[in-house]
Parts: sequence; C-alpha cells; structure tokens
Amino acid sequence: MNHVVVVGAGLAGVRSVEALRAHGFGGAITLIGEEPHRPYDRPPLSKAVLLGEIDSTVVDSDLGALAVDHRPGVAAKGLRAGVLETTEGELAYDALVIATGASPIRLRGEGPQHVLRTIDDALGLRALLRQGRRVAVVGAGWIGAEVATAARRAGCEVTVVEAAECPLAAALGPVGAHTAPWYERAGIDLRTGTMVASVDPGGLTLVDGSTIEADVVVTGVGVRPSVDWLAGSGIELDDGVVTDEHLRTALPGVVAVGDCAAWWSRRYGRRLRVEHWDTALNSPEVAAATLLGGPGEGAVYDPVPYFWSEQFGHMVQYAGHHAGARLVMRGDPAGTRWSACWVTDGGTLAAVLAVNLPRDLMQGRRLIEGGQRLDVDRLADPAVALRDC
Ligand code: FAD
Repeated sequence: MNHVVVVGAGLAGVRSVEALRAHGFGGAITLIGEEPHRPYDRPPLSKAVLLGEIDSTVVDSDLGALAVDHRPGVAAKGLRAGVLETTEGELAYDALVIATGASPIRLRGEGPQHVLRTIDDALGLRALLRQGRRVAVVGAGWIGAEVATAARRAGCEVTVVEAAECPLAAALGPVGAHTAPWYERAGIDLRTGTMVASVDPGGLTLVDGSTIEADVVVTGVGVRPSVDWLAGSGIELDDGVVTDEHLRTALPGVVAVGDCAAWWSRRYGRRLRVEHWDTALNSPEVAAATLLGGPGEGAVYDPVPYFWSEQFGHMVQYAGHHAGARLVMRGDPAGTRWSACWVTDGGTLAAVLAVNLPRDLMQGRRLIEGGQRLDVDRLADPAVALRDC
C-alpha cells in the first residue's frame, strides 16, 4: 500500500492521518478538505468562539511533520474502486478514509438563517450578537442551547422555538424537561411544542400562522451525514456510511470515521452513528489499524458513546446509550448538581447523564464499560458514590 487518501479535513480526518503514521505507515497520505482552512475543532465554536474568548480553534497537529499533502478547498465528488473524483481532477488511491462529517439541516423559507457548523459560521454569527438584538433560535438541542447561552451573554433578546415538548427531547427524552428552567432563569423565552413553518424576512412563521419577529434567526435542528458524493460508488449508505465493527465499508480498502460513519456496535448489537467529538477523536485509531492489517481478528471499534455540552453555566455530560432502559434520578434536578441513570432489565447501567457532576460521569462510564449489576436502591441515593452501587 503506497497511497492513502483521507477525504474530509475535520478532526476525524486529521486524527486518521496521525493514526496512520503512529501505526508506522510510511507511504504517501493526501488529505482532501472542502473548507479553505487547516483542520480545526468544532466544539469551541458554539462556546469560546461565540462568547468572543477565542478566534481560532485550529487543531494542534503538525501537518509538516506528518508529511501529509493537505489540499484545502478541494471537494470529493465521486468514488469508484481505486479512484477518487475531486473538484481538482481524479486521484488514485490504494486505501481511502471517508471522514466527511455532517452538515446542518436548513428550514424552508426565503429569510436569512444562520447555521453553526464552521469557523466562518461562528465568526459571522458572533458579529451579529449585539446588545438588544432579537435572536430567534430554532431547536432547543445541544447547539440551540449553547447559541442561546452566548446570545444572552451578549445581551440579545432571545426566543428559542422547539417542536418537541421539552429541550433535548431527541437526545434525553423527558429528562430534557429538567433543563427548561435554565432557559427561564437566563431570561429566554422558550416556546416548546411549537413548529416553525418557514424562515421569512423579519423572522419566523409558525405552522399556526403566527409570527416571531427576529433580527437574527439561527437554525439548530440537527445535521445530516455528508455522504451525497458517495451515491453510486458501491458504498452502502443508510443514515451515513454503513461499516462493520472494524469500520470497513462495502468497498475494499475503504473505511469511514467520525460523524459520517454508521458502524456496527458489538456492544449494543445494532448500528450506531454518533455525531460527537469523542467518535471523531477515537474511531480513526481503529480505522488505521484496519487499513494496515496485522495479526488476529483486527481492531474493533466498540466504545461507550460519550459527549458533553456547556449551557447556561452548566457542564452537561452523557455516556452510554439508553434506548429501552429504565430511568433512575440521582439528586434534585431543580438543584445545580444532579444526575440521571438508565438501568437495563438485567440491572446494569445503560447510560448516565451528569449535570455539574464529572465524578458521576466518570464512575458511570466505567460501570457501563464493566457491565456490573447494580443495587438500584443505592443508585437512587445521591449520597452513595456510583462506583459503590
Ligand atoms: P466534521 O468536523 O464535520 O469534518 C468533516 C469535514 O469534511 C468538514 O471540514 C467538511 O467541510 C469536509 N467535507 C464534507 N464533504 C466533503 C467532500 N465531499 N469533500 C471534501 N471535504 C468534505 N461534540 C461533543 O461531543 N461535545 C460538544 O460540546 C460539541 N460541540 C459542538 C459544537 C458545534 C458548533 C459543532 C458544529 C459540533 C459540536 N460537537 C460537539 C460535535 C463534534 O464537533 C463533531 O462530532 C466532530 O466535529 C465530527 O468530526 P468529523 O471530522 O467527523 O466531521
């Protein structure tokens, strides 16, 4: 194998280059990235960048020392066995890493709407967050909550419109309702159970025909994996790039990592696609090992999913996967430090959500990984350390 092409120069892309070199690959590596920038980190975009604390989030990675041919501003357009088609012509490869991430969903309508995915989005939006401006945020998910936090800090009048009955409903179910008072305390007008029909000049039109006037509209209703360029390539696509537990796609010598990868989880016995930083950071290690081969059955990507969010002065962390599991609250969610645990029918911990309680997150994550049975009565007592339950 002489030439590996990595498509997508986000965190998962640059981590793939690092992992290939760390595994001893000495051949040529080309890193193709649609954005005109050096690889950078996205989590600070909705936090420190939007709050005006920093202007750059470029990842601390020495592309020169990695001897990678980074081609910014070049997009992949199509793929067939051994050949990548790009906006700058064709590129032959021996192995290929798909790391094209995801892109934000936009709403219907002719009015200006901002999304937050790139450093340019973040700097552009930051310039608009000024004292007294009316900002309408569509979606009370992770991004919506962080944008609302920054907009309030900048002195904007903020309305957050959410179709579900509570914030974070898609990720946390009814537990998300415990974050609704955070909006109220921050002086934000949170409207749940409210559907937006379109973004129009001057603000939002709701499905009931009423309007919300706004100077700035920010849409944070989720993302879609950026995989359209793979249509007709022979790669299986189903809400992302379908891979096995080694991150191999249907095309020989092609793996997928990060936000765009829908990998087979041995732990959960189902396919998972996790749009969070930890996946972009760690999946490339397994992908590189898979491409470079070696003895045994090969590396398996089988993490307990993890992510965090910083909103309204709270550090919110989640580990696990709670579908079908029973909720057990630890502590008073009206307070500032509490957690929620989800327990399987077999009495093991499926997931933990920790609010300003990194200790619960850390211990919970270990319990999930270890798969020990828990004493649910002790679990419900926040005075008992999670590791002692
Ligand atoms: P991306 O970062 O999306 O990188 C993919 C790159 O590929 C992009 O540069 C894209 O332009 C490029 N690309 C796409 N199509 C093509 C193509 N056809 N040809 C060439 N290049 C292409 N996660 C957390 O766990 N905690 C957080 O607090 C958190 N905060 C976040 C805040 C924001 C504002 C955002 C946007 C994300 C946040 N995330 C957070 C999620 C996390 O940043 C992502 O999971 C991570 O960036 C995914 O990395 P990636 O490399 O897979 O994809």
